[in-house]
Amino acid sequence: MSPLRGSHGFLIPTQRLYAGLNNFAPAALQSCKSNNIRCMPESYILGIETSCDETAAAVIGNGERLLSNVVSSQIATHQPYGGVVPELASREHPRAIVPVVRQALAEAGKNYESIDAIAVTQGPGLAGALLVGISYAKALAFALEKPLITVNHLEGHIHAVLLEEKQKGNFQIDFPLLALVVSGGHTHLFLAEQREHGWSYVNIGRTRDDAAGEAYDKVAKLLGLGYPGGPVIDALARHGNPRAVKFGASQIKHSNRGTPKAEQTPYDFSFSGIKTAVLRYVELEGMRESVIARQQALAGIGKPTTEIVLKHCDKKTLDLVASFQRAVVDDLVGKTLQAAEERDARTLFVTGGVAANSELRERFTLEAAKGGLPVYFPSRKLSTDNAAMIAAAAFPKLRAGDFAGADFSAEASLALR
Ligand code: ADP
Ligand code: MG
Repeated sequence: MSPLRGSHGFLIPTQRLYAGLNNFAPAALQSCKSNNIRCMPESYILGIETSCDETAAAVIGNGERLLSNVVSSQIATHQPYGGVVPELASREHPRAIVPVVRQALAEAGKNYESIDAIAVTQGPGLAGALLVGISYAKALAFALEKPLITVNHLEGHIHAVLLEEKQKGNFQIDFPLLALVVSGGHTHLFLAEQREHGWSYVNIGRTRDDAAGEAYDKVAKLLGLGYPGGPVIDALARHGNPRAVKFGASQIKHSNRGTPKAEQTPYDFSFSGIKTAVLRYVELEGMRESVIARQQALAGIGKPTTEIVLKHCDKKTLDLVASFQRAVVDDLVGKTLQAAEERDARTLFVTGGVAANSELRERFTLEAAKGGLPVYFPSRKLSTDNAAMIAAAAFPKLRAGDFAGADFSAEASLALR
């Protein structure tokens, strides 16, 4: 089979084209061909993300030009439960996906015809939620005769950093690169190397139980602070004493005790113990009543400001919140920098919803600078789930002609390699 030269100027092997659509040619290529001139216009990818509680769509030009980024969050749906309810998440996505995609195209000044490819999150995430984005993306790709690209959600988070660095003109990234992906569903350390098209990854650390963001959400819930827990704890922690409550190593550290040396995992995390420790502290210190009072006071206010939440927090609560955050940040920063040093990482990315945390950013910036390690974060908007990162991560695959067939499905535990 002869390869097809795409509008983006890259070779696309025809045998790998989506669903056997061997007449695929982006709109821009067709006009180039008819004018009989060689041109390399920008390629546009429509990204779709529905792995958890955000329905998101975005359009990216050439993997680095952000044309639109629309996120419809389900926070209000899950707020009464203090965490994401998978069944509700899957039901919300079908309601939001069509308007979100239309808005992303409109804001980018594009239409269905003028995009070159569709990228969708295949996993990891909630199976029912992922399926909505995948089914929609498949239908769109089939109807429009456009190639479909699958993206690993975790690689998407990593590409959120890359996308913004490219926008700033920073293309100089040294490898090996260490990426901490830390969100409501994930806490992973990946060592990345560059390969011909895109990067390859080795997962050198992961949480053994709760993700760091999950710990934030659960602690906020048990302290009556509302949902999501990350932003409110981040704001309150500044007003408490981070040394007031001591969380022992056993409450935050994954233990390698008794594990043969070859199987030890020095960079694994564990955040379920600290949640239990906070619960025990609340009970031992007789804080139950004040938690219930705060919960009731805040329940009636849709989105309380930090000032309002502060009015309902005593010193003991603020100290507990600050101490919790300090313990989590210490652990994330400590293990990540240990891994960076031991694995000779030359660049550090910190990304995912928890990367929006101000103390985490300050500490990483400070500590990494001591060792001369360049550290990059996404902007707060691109820290939490979005589709810009999915479209950006799909660009190397578009260049390589690495398209999905019609037969793939959602993979709740998809590994990143
Ligand atoms: P998920 O795929 O789990 O929805 P996101 O990347 O959307 O992940 O991140 C959401 C998580 O990030 C939630 O657990 C939330 O509490 C946490 N989070 C958001 N902002 C902050 C912050 N400023 N500090 C700590 N955690 C945060
Ligand atoms: Mg989310």
